[in-house]
Amino acid sequence: MNTSKYALTSGNIVTPNKIITHGSLFLENGRIEKILDEPSGMPDKNYEVIDCSGKIIMPGFIDVHTHGGIGHEFSTCTTDHISELSEFYYSHGVTTLLATLSPLPHSLLILAVIRLAEYCAENRDHTNIVGIHLEGPYINKAMSGGNQENYIELPDFEMWQKVREAGRGYICLMTVAPELPGIISIVENAINNGIAISVGHSIGDGNVMVQAIERGATQVTHIFNSMPTLHHREFGLLTEGLLSNKIDAQMIADGVHVHPKVIQIAVKLKTADHVMLITDSTPATQVGDGEYMSAGKKVVVKNGVVRAGDGALAGSTLTMERAAKMMNKEVGIDLPAVSRMASLTAARSLGIDKETGSIEEGKKADIVVLDKAFDVKITIRGGEIKHRK
Ligand SMILES: [Zn+2]
Repeated sequence: MNTSKYALTSGNIVTPNKIITHGSLFLENGRIEKILDEPSGMPDKNYEVIDCSGKIIMPGFIDVHTHGGIGHEFSTCTTDHISELSEFYYSHGVTTLLATLSPLPHSLLILAVIRLAEYCAENRDHTNIVGIHLEGPYINKAMSGGNQENYIELPDFEMWQKVREAGRGYICLMTVAPELPGIISIVENAINNGIAISVGHSIGDGNVMVQAIERGATQVTHIFNSMPTLHHREFGLLTEGLLSNKIDAQMIADGVHVHPKVIQIAVKLKTADHVMLITDSTPATQVGDGEYMSAGKKVVVKNGVVRAGDGALAGSTLTMERAAKMMNKEVGIDLPAVSRMASLTAARSLGIDKETGSIEEGKKADIVVLDKAFDVKITIRGGEIKHRK
């Protein structure tokens, strides 16, 4: 257990429903011990005091859909790279994430899953990588987005069992196209084993979405992207995804994948309690423009926008603090709602909201401290400082 005691004083503390200005936060035994709405009820001398004047104190970010950054992606990288990625995420305020695997042929997918599950098991006390999101391989080739089409697999129950077993319980989420033949038994098996199902990279219509929800799907993967666009004379997958309160929508909040005004529509319809900000970040993140291999394809990054050869958007170079900034500054959403979308909704969707995802007394001390420009100054996980600038 972490024995450090910190007092974050005079900060703007973002709780799920309000901002406590000039408030103080006391962290002890890895937990949020006390929240005070005054600059600093003087803590005993065992606390290290961190002056947060003018800073924003938010719950640590939770990203359920991210493929990598700093030149590495989870699909192909070594265990050393996984550790580097964990640090990279801490430097962007992320205290919980699902390492997301693009489609891979079963044989390679199993190897990547084994590597990640091993890492998660060995580092569970201090890593922010808590599990795996399989984006595919059972998605629709007709909506492959930036993914390598040759890596997309048809549903195969026996092979799925091998993938799932390789995950040793660390596969938390899987994106599927529910219209694929043979997917139903895989979805049922996944749900029975505690794996949440997200609908995405699909050409299904509204009825397909309704059936998927009845079978237990609870998320839609990067809403608006890699699915048929909303048509006003048709009942589409997107329409049901927007309307159903059983569905939490992952949203790539870079202002490129979805226009800020369209993000506004989604948030109005779904509310902040059913939208989760994701990055869908690729190896190009924090590296710069140029050519990269990503999801088994050559991609070109220009002005931070990632595109495959056919011009399709192919993931992002987004980081969570910039997603939060975009939502606040460009979409105009208040910080409590932004913090729910950047942390709490995802925590609830992963079933860990009793422990983390918001600044509440008794919860794990998973915290990010940002300056006014949303640059990450401090990241704390479980009461331990993981990044400080
Ligand atoms: Zn993705």
